[in-house]
Amino acid sequence: MTLQGARERRVRTGGVELCVAELGDPGQPTVILVHGYPDSKEVWSEVAPRLAERFHVVLYDVRGHGRSTAPKPLRGGFTLEKLTDDFLAVADAVSPDRPVHLVGHDWGSVQSWEFATVKRTEGRIASFTSMSGPSLDHFGHWINRRLKRPTPRRVGQLLGQGAKSWYVYALHTPVLPELAWRGPLGKHWPKLLERFEQVPGAGYPASSLPTDAAHGAWLYRDNVRARLRRPRTDAYAHAPVQLITPLGDAFLSEKLYDELEQWVPQLTRRTLAAKHWIPRSRPDQLAAWITEFVTSVEGGRPEAVTATGKYADRFGGQLVLVTGAGSGIGRATAYAFAEAGARVVAVDRDAEAAARTAEMSRLIGAPAAWAETVDVSDEQAMEKLAEKVATEYGVVDVLVNNAGIGLSGSFFDTTPEDWKKVLDVNLWGVIHGCRLFGKQMTERGQGGHIVNTASAAAYQPSKALPAYSTSKAAVLMLSECLRAELAGQGIGVTAICPGFVNTNITSTAHFAGVDSEEEKRRQKKSARLYGLRNYPPEKVADAILRAVVRGEAVVPVTPEARGAYLMSRFTPRALRRIARLEPPL
Ligand code: NAD
Repeated sequence: MTLQGARERRVRTGGVELCVAELGDPGQPTVILVHGYPDSKEVWSEVAPRLAERFHVVLYDVRGHGRSTAPKPLRGGFTLEKLTDDFLAVADAVSPDRPVHLVGHDWGSVQSWEFATVKRTEGRIASFTSMSGPSLDHFGHWINRRLKRPTPRRVGQLLGQGAKSWYVYALHTPVLPELAWRGPLGKHWPKLLERFEQVPGAGYPASSLPTDAAHGAWLYRDNVRARLRRPRTDAYAHAPVQLITPLGDAFLSEKLYDELEQWVPQLTRRTLAAKHWIPRSRPDQLAAWITEFVTSVEGGRPEAVTATGKYADRFGGQLVLVTGAGSGIGRATAYAFAEAGARVVAVDRDAEAAARTAEMSRLIGAPAAWAETVDVSDEQAMEKLAEKVATEYGVVDVLVNNAGIGLSGSFFDTTPEDWKKVLDVNLWGVIHGCRLFGKQMTERGQGGHIVNTASAAAYQPSKALPAYSTSKAAVLMLSECLRAELAGQGIGVTAICPGFVNTNITSTAHFAGVDSEEEKRRQKKSARLYGLRNYPPEKVADAILRAVVRGEAVVPVTPEARGAYLMSRFTPRALRRIARLEPPL
């Protein structure tokens, strides 16, 4: 398999011949992509063309992999010193006059750490983006520190990473890994990747996989034990580093990078909800982050890359759409994502309010923010919105279906029109959002997250809120079902269940069965009660961002919502008693 449109050349170095592919304009900054184990440069075949729109992109097969030749003998032919020689030979061939931007995944990242921290490459590397592959030196010190001062937490971290490293021990056994890779493991690997790592099949891995994997076992044997035993003490990065950590990595624990700042003076952290093979499963996100990082380093300001918000590592540059963003919880959520550096689409039926949210979002830290005026219950308008967002801004990474209205009144006071209105907005609005934007997420096949704002009323019955509670119970169940359906595609679904939150909802809620004067009185009174409770929407927004980061399913927010949630599970009878009480209005 060759990369479409790539120009290939051979670079000779240290007794091997490396197969090097180039895309994009050589006049642009050079980005060199280094693949991992067991892989070949084709692991980058989704990321490389995206980067080639802006950069001169270079990929090479590591010695003994793909169409590069293998050292003879294999033993001792894969040391980090030799791999550094290879990198320098490639860099000199493709970018003799300008330092290059390095990007490494897995073992490509392990070796790139060596390149980025040894003296002889100083001045040749402009930046380094590392994914799923630590420096063996940093790893060695990480282990030593935990062995020397073994607190229970540190021992837990050691055991956790130790368990994740099972394959490293296996690769140290002689001959067996080679036999396995050239036999059944090599044959079934593509299926295993698809099943357990959610790596899309088509055209990957390359047919050289069994040989790549057999040769690549020497990467481990030639380096791991020696380096972990005697890690270098001067392994400081001499270029800015962007660390991208997939939180669902089965082979590497996030904790490995806890002390990285001490080795890297200019470190930008990014995290994403994905498994190990992110060059295959998240090419859009990687290309966006690499582009942003390389561009900022070229512009001389690597430290300006990330926003300062609490979750900037996770949401920086992502596209987030929030409905009902003109007020209350929706507005606070848009601001929280903006603070984390996300691009925000603020949707509301109130045009002015949406515009204000978008404007403020830009001031707070969103690199871009747009306002869209749409009634979420209007199917056609939502379809148009989804089309527009996809063509103009891209596929949404996080969707927050939050728009909702309040409706109070007994079952027999609630008219069919009242029912229709509340279900149209609170339930159908969520259905339209999930259906249209969720579809785009699944078609893109690169994960995402959907948050639906339900309510504590979803599980707490009340004789005063039959229609509202029904709409929210439906949203809760819809979220649970959708979560199950989308689990295999890396798309999370969360139902947020706030209790009493101090927003405008009380002053716009409809009270069925009373005249307009009485309705106004009740609106005022409930606004006063919610005001006294005074739970800020910002706390709900914080819970929403946290839920996305953690991939939580159902999140009751506010103490009363949490209490009712526990009661609904353990003492539902007591909750049914409370449901009979007269509301305090
Ligand atoms: P809010 O009234 O302050 O904000 C709701 C926003 O949604 C408003 O800007 C409004 O213009 C917009 N909106 C309403 N209908 C819309 C429609 N059809 N299309 C587009 N936009 C529309 O209310 P809030 O408290 O921030 O409510 C947000 C969500 O939280 C709602 O789903 C609500 O049911 C839920 N919730 C609120 C509370 C609470 O105590 N405030 C508790 C539990 C759940």
